[in-house]
Amino acid sequence: MKILVAVKRVVDYSIRVRARRDGAGVDTDNLKKSMNPFDEIAVEEALRLQEAGYAKETAVVSIGDPGCHETLRTALAMGIDQALHVETTAALEPLGVAKLLHAVVVVEQADLVILGKQAIDDDANQTGQMLAALLGWGQGTFACKLELTEHSLQVTREIDGGTETLELEMPAVVTTDLRLNTPRYVKLPNIVKAKKKPVRVLTPEDLKVDLAPRTRVLQFNDPPVRKSGILLESAGDLVRKLRSEAKVLP
Ligand code: AMP
Repeated sequence: MKILVAVKRVVDYSIRVRARRDGAGVDTDNLKKSMNPFDEIAVEEALRLQEAGYAKETAVVSIGDPGCHETLRTALAMGIDQALHVETTAALEPLGVAKLLHAVVVVEQADLVILGKQAIDDDANQTGQMLAALLGWGQGTFACKLELTEHSLQVTREIDGGTETLELEMPAVVTTDLRLNTPRYVKLPNIVKAKKKPVRVLTPEDLKVDLAPRTRVLQFNDPPVRKSGILLESAGDLVRKLRSEAKVLP
């Protein structure tokens, strides 16, 4: 079995992103970028399945500008076998990404695709679902546990108020939730070794995929600034304030 993992390069989770003054976009230039956290969990799960003997090969794919190489090398340093970069500077929407991933799955002959449940930059939560539909494969989204047998895959999903366990026929698409695993740390010697590993490069034209946008973002706004809190002297002061000032929200 071959597992393909989709990894997106996003602005690092620790960085506060701001809308541009004209509201037409978000400033991401010169900000620290790293692998989308849910995709790190996807990489870790692929490695665990390989280490348990279920997968022969693991590959990662990232779509975007040349900076993606750094993200791909992180995945290689974690232990993934092969890396593929679909190079484009086009604005990407989940449907365009899903179409490119569909083409990559066909070229790579993958049996299981693992993606993050969402990218923390656009919070779309659409790509895995669209990819499963394009492939005509079953999907297990928001996975917090995976159990593989010879012909099927059990996916436990996080749902409101509990979990749900599905059985999927293979091949399948899975998207990861936070509790699936804790990604391993990348060791320094592996980072050095990963620098020498090859990254194959393709373009959307090679894959014959049309990336024409279907949606247009009208405006970005920063969240309203929160008023700063106050420190009270005593619990009595707090009770008085709650009595006289606290409001019941609608
Ligand atoms: P989204 O639907 O945009 O929230 O993204 C869900 C998942 O799709 C991400 O966690 C990635 O696994 C994958 N994905 C989205 N965009 C890309 C990209 N440009 N390159 C590789 N994988 C991506």
